[in-house]
Amino acid sequence: MPRLPSQYRQCVACRNLYFRSDLFRIIYDRQQQTVQLLQTSKEKTRLFGRSAYLCRAMACLQTAMKGKKIQKALKTSIPDDILICLNDALKGNHPGGYTESKNL
Ligand SMILES: [Zn+2]
Repeated sequence: MPRLPSQYRQCVACRNLYFRSDLFRIIYDRQQQTVQLLQTSKEKTRLFGRSAYLCRAMACLQTAMKGKKIQKALKTSIPDDILICLNDALKGNHPGGYTESKNL
């Protein structure tokens, strides 16, 4: 595994590197045994566990869902409402760039 610059994370679907704040972060919290979605890195978290990152492309969400890539990265199943939430967040995106929605 090459070392990644600390501010960058890899999308589980397209494997490109993105700035952390541009990715969705899905965390499996070992202590509570729950899966949580963080939409921006600004949300503070004290969760401990595995994380999977997904870029803000609908194609990547579809790839991730089809290949169960998030589940594999987290080594657990993820609730449908997380996928629905991701889907809803991406639907509002304009192609060619995203603007941070205040409604998230
Ligand atoms: Zn991606």
